[in-house]
Amino acid sequence: MATKYKEKLIGFECTVCRNINYFSTKNKKILKEKLELNKFCNTCRKHTKHKETKVK
Ligand SMILES: [Zn+2]
Repeated sequence: MATKYKEKLIGFECTVCRNINYFSTKNKKILKEKLELNKFCNTCRKHTKHKETKVK
């Protein structure tokens, strides 16, 4: 029987302009901590910190 992983859709929000620029999925059972990534923000036009945020 195939096991389905419960993956949750998350977004990555720029901590500077609060735009959600990236989307990803996360397995809550494996990753419990909030993610923070350095990503390029189109609005800020530079690399900024992106914080994990909930997506509907
Ligand atoms: Zn930004």
